[in-house]
Amino acid sequence: MKPSIYSLTYPQLETWCIDHGFKAFHAKNLFRWLYQKRVDSFNLMSDLSLSLRDALASDFEMKGLIEVEKQVSSDGTRKYLLQLEDLSMVETVLMVQPYGYSVCISSQIGCNMGCAFCASGLIKKSRDVRADEMVRQLLHVQKDLDQDALRVSHMVVMGIGEPFDNYDHVMNTIRILNHDLGLAIGSRHMTVSTCGVPAGIRKFALEPFQVNLAISLHAPNDELRSSIMPINRAFPLKELMSALEFYFKHSNRKVTYEYILLKDVNDSVAHAKELAALIRGQHVYVNLIPYNKVEEQPFEQVTPQQAQRFFETLRKAGITATLRMEHGADIDAACGQLRSKKLKGCQI
Ligand code: SAH
Repeated sequence: MKPSIYSLTYPQLETWCIDHGFKAFHAKNLFRWLYQKRVDSFNLMSDLSLSLRDALASDFEMKGLIEVEKQVSSDGTRKYLLQLEDLSMVETVLMVQPYGYSVCISSQIGCNMGCAFCASGLIKKSRDVRADEMVRQLLHVQKDLDQDALRVSHMVVMGIGEPFDNYDHVMNTIRILNHDLGLAIGSRHMTVSTCGVPAGIRKFALEPFQVNLAISLHAPNDELRSSIMPINRAFPLKELMSALEFYFKHSNRKVTYEYILLKDVNDSVAHAKELAALIRGQHVYVNLIPYNKVEEQPFEQVTPQQAQRFFETLRKAGITATLRMEHGADIDAACGQLRSKKLKGCQI
């Protein structure tokens, strides 16, 4: 199979042009056709020479992803189940935020992290999602929004998979989506979310771009965190915090902690105090997330009063926090839910 044209970063396209006897500046027009005019075929790139179009078509595929299903929530959230060339499926979500349109992409086919509350881990990882497949998830949503002349302004790698278990493809995706001549999604408008892989955090700290980092924390001590997030057994909080120290030192950027409130598991005032003590003094804020119910799992949502109590306890302890709204509650919005339902339906 030929590689996809969407796998190439801008400098890689320039190199390809030079290696094939074309001028490097053709990459400029090509990127515009791919990401700004968003045409579906090399033939439509009318200001590129026929020989360049032929050379591109003989070296690269230019297919989009196939939409298997699309659910639209009453709050505007759209969830897409998209099929890749090898028939694997990924979930991609569009969220309507007060600040713009944000797309959540999946970085792996299934996930091996095994978090107890997450639907993604119900199906183990079969492979990484390649950069072109992540880019095409976003392009798919952008093309859907094109019908209403709307633009994707934000991107989060928070779908199925652990991005730091697929580091290089995720970084190339960021480079491609960020490029000025492409979709030009600002680096400060992009977020990578990890369950806490220290080596990935350290590498990410040294990247030249200003992409945000989110850490799925979900518990304030090792015992509890290890019981719901197996990654913590390999890399306990001490190691996570030491990687974050490195990140703060080198990137100078704020980190977001994600904390799902799980009823009677991690939601008490004592937990909030323990959390505040753990992260006091760090350049962070905490995003309190309502739990999206997953049928197969024993967890329940907390009441709004309990969530408020947790939030207030953090605030009084001097920790900045937000109580996040639930998106797409009336569709299969929890990570991996739509895919796992579809796969079960198909008896795969
Ligand atoms: N592996 C990465 C990114 C994917 S998960 C990570 O762990 O961060 C993206 C976020 O959704 C994580 O914070 C994850 O813990 C959270 N999440 C998973 N299942 C959820 C559920 N059922 N309800 C609410 N949030 C969930």
